[in-house]
Amino acid sequence: MSYQHRFIDGTAVGLPTGKVVCVGRNYADHAAELNNPIPTEPMLFIKPSTSVVDMAQPFEIPKANGTVHFETEMCVLIGERLSNATIQEAKNAIVGIGLGLDLTLRDLQDKLKAKGHPWEKSKGFDGAAPLSAFVEPAEISDLQDVDIKLIVNGEVRQDGNSAHMLNQVLPLICHSSEFFTLEPGDVILTGTPAGVGPIQAGDQLEVELADCIKISTHAF
Ligand code: ZN
Repeated sequence: MSYQHRFIDGTAVGLPTGKVVCVGRNYADHAAELNNPIPTEPMLFIKPSTSVVDMAQPFEIPKANGTVHFETEMCVLIGERLSNATIQEAKNAIVGIGLGLDLTLRDLQDKLKAKGHPWEKSKGFDGAAPLSAFVEPAEISDLQDVDIKLIVNGEVRQDGNSAHMLNQVLPLICHSSEFFTLEPGDVILTGTPAGVGPIQAGDQLEVELADCIKISTHAF
């Protein structure tokens, strides 16, 4: 597995690749596009460290289990151990801001949901979390006003802003840390705006976070 994404502004930070804590339906427009109700509290799930790959390198799409969807999300890299964190502790623990793709085996997820089974196989498979390198938190003046954009094969597919999150980043970290101790190297994926759709081998992707991160990559 590649560890190249553990960079902040081009400098290796020496953090391990940890778990990825994700939140479902954190934008009302995305919940609506999949006909899902808006949850009353953050709906969390975890991708294991083995799901993490470097987004800047071509990454593999699973072929055996039906449709794979992209979800483009702002993510934060945690640099300190957090348990029952306060807002200030959560803020202090963020050492990097980046972009992640929450790749989802959508057909499999639908089947598992229909049976009332856990989603893990549809969300936590190897390669399910391509992550960018990170930038210093200081480069983002307001975590709740960040443009998130995905262009697939030249067409804008996702164009959102973190202002529309239902659960903002810091309370989301606090809530996560009430259930899962966060450790240095863990990443929080903060949910996708609307526009999710299928991704296929051969697709060319441009992924952008404000004017801080621009990645050109492709799936195979
Ligand atoms: Zn997601």
